[in-house]
Amino acid sequence: MWEPPLFRRPDVMDAIVARQVMDLLIPDMGLRPVARCDALGAAPYSESSAFLLRPYLTASHRHALDLLSDWMTEAGMSVRLDPMGNLIGRYEGLTPGAPALLIGSHIDTVPDSGRYDGALGVMLGVECVAAFSRAGRRLPFAIEVIAFGDEEGSRFPASMLCSKAIASGVSAEALALTDQNGVTLAQSLEAFGLDPSRVAEAVRRPGEVLAYVEAHIEQGPVLESEGLPIGVVTGIAAQLRLRAKFVGTAGHAGTTPMNLRADALAAGAAGVLAVERICRDGAQDLVGTVGKFQTSTSAFNVIAGEAEIFIDVRASDRDTRNAAAEHIRQELEGIAEARGLSLEFVQVQDLPGCPCDPELTRLMGEAVEDVGVPARMLMSGAGHDAMAVARIAPVAMLFIRCEGGVSHNSAEQVTYEDTGFAARAMVAFVERLEARGL
Ligand SMILES: [Zn+2]
Repeated sequence: MWEPPLFRRPDVMDAIVARQVMDLLIPDMGLRPVARCDALGAAPYSESSAFLLRPYLTASHRHALDLLSDWMTEAGMSVRLDPMGNLIGRYEGLTPGAPALLIGSHIDTVPDSGRYDGALGVMLGVECVAAFSRAGRRLPFAIEVIAFGDEEGSRFPASMLCSKAIASGVSAEALALTDQNGVTLAQSLEAFGLDPSRVAEAVRRPGEVLAYVEAHIEQGPVLESEGLPIGVVTGIAAQLRLRAKFVGTAGHAGTTPMNLRADALAAGAAGVLAVERICRDGAQDLVGTVGKFQTSTSAFNVIAGEAEIFIDVRASDRDTRNAAAEHIRQELEGIAEARGLSLEFVQVQDLPGCPCDPELTRLMGEAVEDVGVPARMLMSGAGHDAMAVARIAPVAMLFIRCEGGVSHNSAEQVTYEDTGFAARAMVAFVERLEARGL
């Protein structure tokens, strides 16, 4: 297991100080983003006083933006609200109007949410700008920190409305979506002081956005299991949903000899284990799950005639995923044949993934190593705003370890120390982007 570097050792300290121009080791780089998420974790930044719920275009959203706007201003940014309610803080580059590196995540939450899912990425963006601003340092590009109003879809039946809005706009159908009280998105924007007829202005023009980077809690257990504070995301998983139905012969449990059976349930069980084995033995980021098992009959004394398994296969890379799905199909056919059954194998859904930009991901890996952490590459099994923004700009993502991999839950937890690594890695990433040239 990897051990964190000893920052008190003078040689290590010297090496880091030499590498970083700025005073990156001040403790509040990790402390402040966490403290700010904690501050936003209760009313009036939540609709409920019992748990955290901050849906899009609500009073709690407004309160959070007011406070965030102050933090952005204090960090040296000029702040504006776009027509979709995304709060954008801009730290101008050496040349006014230069293309911007966007650093963002979402500020909305699910009901009974943790305090860090989304918000931590925004706070890390503010922290990163504060470091450059404090050092009086301007870059050849601008940095814009963006707090997307909606990603979770906890108010309207759609997700990533706001990151999609800056990449590909907002459709008339989306503006007509209603919340549980029958209020449309258009009406909610108006009530928030925005003009729904101007939502198209939220779309970023070509050339305005240099790249997009998002830091987010991992929402999984990989970093924790390897003792790593942060990790580099290679992409958001491409997902396949498959349905496999074994068709045998229903029969009497007492009168059908074992050698004359075509037991679909037993075949299905072998199928479940085959999916598990193929995905466990496959590529590192390949995951496969049978989440549902259904039989035509369900009784003590009946041999099942039909059994259906529902399979979810994900990998960061589409080819890896498709190859695994094909391997699964062949194995299941072999199981059916050996047991004298037939197999129906159907692809139910193909959700494309979103690879992060290889060049930016390499830079992020180097930035992580710059702060003394081995660059662990990992896939994101969950969706993020980066997927939507990838339509208009190259994207990179950084994951932060969260306790037990728990998220979408008030028990969500991160440490100051891990967040400090993330903040310093974000700064190092910006420096590497600067060094690479535009
Ligand atoms: Zn999130």
